[in-house]
Amino acid sequence: MKERRNLLARAGIKQPLLGMALLATFASCKEKPETFVIHSPIYPTGSNNVTLTCRKISGDVENVKLYVMVSNVSSTGVLSSSSPEALVQEWSSPTMPVSYTKSGGYGTNKLVKYRFVVKGNDKTYTHTVSFATRPYPVANQAIPVYCVGDKDKVMNLVFIPDSDIDVMDTFYNAVQLDITDAFQKEDWLRRFRKSHNFYINPVTGHAHDYDTGEPHDKPSNWSNLSFAQGKVILHKTVLRDFAGGGVFSTEYFNRGTILHESGHGLYGMADEYSGGSHWQAEEKPNNFTSLANAQNYAPNVGLQSSDANKIGSDNFWELCNDSCMMDKTGLNVWPYFSPCRNRILYAITQRANGN
Ligand SMILES: [Zn+2]
Repeated sequence: MKERRNLLARAGIKQPLLGMALLATFASCKEKPETFVIHSPIYPTGSNNVTLTCRKISGDVENVKLYVMVSNVSSTGVLSSSSPEALVQEWSSPTMPVSYTKSGGYGTNKLVKYRFVVKGNDKTYTHTVSFATRPYPVANQAIPVYCVGDKDKVMNLVFIPDSDIDVMDTFYNAVQLDITDAFQKEDWLRRFRKSHNFYINPVTGHAHDYDTGEPHDKPSNWSNLSFAQGKVILHKTVLRDFAGGGVFSTEYFNRGTILHESGHGLYGMADEYSGGSHWQAEEKPNNFTSLANAQNYAPNVGLQSSDANKIGSDNFWELCNDSCMMDKTGLNVWPYFSPCRNRILYAITQRANGN
């Protein structure tokens, strides 16, 4: 329970969670700030200029400090001190977003850890992100490109380039946009921005169209990826994407598909469209094997029995509306609806408890 409270506090969620509006926002005239951070390029070479940015979601920001620490990475992945953590810039009464650019880059074989400390309305919170510079010296291992937490306690997602991607910068840019414009755009997942680590795989895989019946080709270093809850192949060719065998696929440009497939791969949710994959999960389901099951579950997620509806002509029922991300794929991000939000919270809480 303690873990769960901590997690909710980290995500900025007030208890009780279910069916409650977030009313606390109106308690004072100045809002507590909500921010998030990103670096660009996401996986820079040793000499690329690197820009570190802190963006505002809402609230009043009074002060921002940026600290950076750079470590050397050995060929076995051991870190050693390169420079102590240093304050590189401070902004008072800033106009958001704020950015700092490291001209000439951080050098090769480095792990860069940056920390934005954001203050406003008596609240201080810290975003800490680590990323490697290119090339990464540890052979056949997933490369940390946006890591925020203990990998045994948070969701880990590895982006695998498809062998059909001919320009690697296309892939790297897609990874950055999947973080900022998918995981940090969807309103619920963004609350858990300190619960998702992102990696790039140094070895390619290859995605197949669902209708061919062929499984995805896994990369040759697959056995090194078992630490990650999600493995996604980003491809260029337009396919019918699917999740199976522990790996899922999406066109590199589809921010909606990556969240839909992450719904399966990371959080264990079923499809909400007719003709999809359906099952009723034991914990926090988003599909139900009967109308009665759906009706009985409705109050647990702040809904009413009248919200239960049949999934097309399939023999499954749901409580989500038709704009839930598990009903959609494609270019655009849609909000997960209440049953899915509860399943996502459950899956992230399980990770925080070390499961
Ligand atoms: Zn849903």
